[in-house]
Amino acid sequence: IEIIGAPIFNERGMLKGAVLLLYDITHLKRLELMRKDFVANVSHELKTPITSIKGFAETLLNGAKNDQESLDRFLTIINDESTRLQGLIEDLLTLSKLEKDEFKLIRTVVDMNLLIGEILPVIDQRANQREITVTADVQDGITLHADGERIKQVIINLLTNAISYTPENGEVNLTVNNEGEMIHIQVSDNGIGIPEKAIPRIFERFYRVDKARSRNTGGTGLGLAIVKHIVEVHDGKISVESEPDQGSTFHVYLPKNDPASS
Ligand code: ADP
Repeated sequence: IEIIGAPIFNERGMLKGAVLLLYDITHLKRLELMRKDFVANVSHELKTPITSIKGFAETLLNGAKNDQESLDRFLTIINDESTRLQGLIEDLLTLSKLEKDEFKLIRTVVDMNLLIGEILPVIDQRANQREITVTADVQDGITLHADGERIKQVIINLLTNAISYTPENGEVNLTVNNEGEMIHIQVSDNGIGIPEKAIPRIFERFYRVDKARSRNTGGTGLGLAIVKHIVEVHDGKISVESEPDQGSTFHVYLPKNDPASS
């Protein structure tokens, strides 16, 4: 707490009282800490792939390039690590755009059936690589007035996570239903689940239950922070239920904001 005080005098110049202003700066201090943490996290996340890219490039230049097998192996690593950097930078730019006050949603009438139809081919490709079955059950005729591209990103991020954190031969299910003035999107998997004490933290930037696992699956640690932001700028809500080794279910509620129905 910061205290600022000033005396008050009467018209004859005699002390009459004083004003004390008490500022609660814990909030500011916390913001400052969060900002510092964020910079430290970003630096660390950028440093890891760059160290590896530089290390393998140097090894190649120092002679390993003459061995075909090392050449292939090291170039693959360099390529993968560059992809990771690219993803991280894209996610950081998305987050920073979403956090800007002047950020504007581009709202149109979004037909959920069409939207999911565009998402599934992308997701299926990823799921097939891991032999995971993805099923989708979208109630007919659901439209909402929202930023379609952003909503797409929410669903893609949730489905990608569901696939990444589910062992081979697992199942991922997406449902979209009308619920009064809201739509209810549900993404569930029968994967590794999330420990109870980690649940309140998974929407934080860079928080991961298992860093090594998340890196292996190509995660940046920013996916759910982006999801939460998009849901909140649409005045929606997100929650999760999960049981370790049983699976997770993410629930997203979005207002339809349908000009026709109001
Ligand atoms: P990441 O890029 O690491 O996946 P996210 O922000 O998308 O980052 O998710 C944060 C963390 O939440 C993940 O690292 C993982 O530990 C956990 N998580 C997210 N989705 C799931 C899921 N469907 N099943 C189990 N754990 C999950």
